[in-house]
Amino acid sequence: MLPNIRIGNEVVGASFCPDDGHVNPLRLLRALHRGFLRLGGQYRSCCEVVNISHEYHRFTAETSGGNFTAPKIVLAAGHGISTLAPMVGLRVPIRPQRGQVLITERIEARLNLPITDVRQTDEGGLQFGTTEEDIGFNDGTTLIDTSRIARRAVQFFPQLASVRLVRNWGCVRVLTPDKCAIYDESESHPGAFVATSHSGVTLAAANAYRAAEWIADGVTPPDFGTFSARRFDVPAAA
Ligand SMILES: Cc1cc2nc3c(=O)[nH]c(=O)nc-3n(C[C@H](O)[C@H](O)[C@H](O)COP(=O)(O)OP(=O)(O)OC[C@H]3O[C@@H](n4cnc5c(N)ncnc54)[C@H](O)[C@@H]3O)c2cc1C
Repeated sequence: MLPNIRIGNEVVGASFCPDDGHVNPLRLLRALHRGFLRLGGQYRSCCEVVNISHEYHRFTAETSGGNFTAPKIVLAAGHGISTLAPMVGLRVPIRPQRGQVLITERIEARLNLPITDVRQTDEGGLQFGTTEEDIGFNDGTTLIDTSRIARRAVQFFPQLASVRLVRNWGCVRVLTPDKCAIYDESESHPGAFVATSHSGVTLAAANAYRAAEWIADGVTPPDFGTFSARRFDVPAAA
């Protein structure tokens, strides 16, 4: 399944699922952005929402770039949701978790399957990683983790020892207590929605189709109630 690739002697097994796949997230973002503009959406950069008010069934987002008013508002601002959600009566329990990733120079395409910890984009760069660190909003990198990630990748595929790393970075995941998505509408402020999750790239289709229909048409897809944050309202054991 991986022609022209030597697999390291220490690799004793692997898993395969025909449904596995991966996308280049930068290309996905550009495609979503293009579709959004085609449908008449407007994108405003550098517009931090500092307050949300609700009057006469309309929401006003007060931003550093002016105010925007609409009958519905969707909070999809990653960790920014923690500050914005209480303004519209939503409770969204999320926490940060750091992941570190290494990127190599672009090389001839060889890895046509997404492998846990090693993936190659269509542009040729390889991505190694990642870590799962509960250390708050620190998005730095550490030598001890990046060297472990690189060593593991070379253990899998010894040919990678001669490939140059071009950058490494740390980034903070948005995690709910059970790591699954939260899709909710405010009970006190109908028309205010939240959509957040880890794996937002994997869930892009669910967000672009199912969640978008739910928000725009008000038709809740079957079993969507499962994703309400109310699932975390379990009384503490005595
Ligand atoms: C190391 C790592 C590896 C990952 N690997 C995968 C993977 O393999 N597959 C996968 O599907 N997902 C993966 N993810 C998760 C994925 O990146 C996220 O699920 C996705 O980015 C979440 O998208 P989002 O738009 O909800 O939030 P974000 O990407 O966090 O975007 C939120 C945006 O809101 C803006 N914002 C915040 N507050 C405000 C405010 N007050 N006003 C205006 N704007 C605001 C922020 O600036 C930001 O641009 C990974 C994440 C990490 C860190």
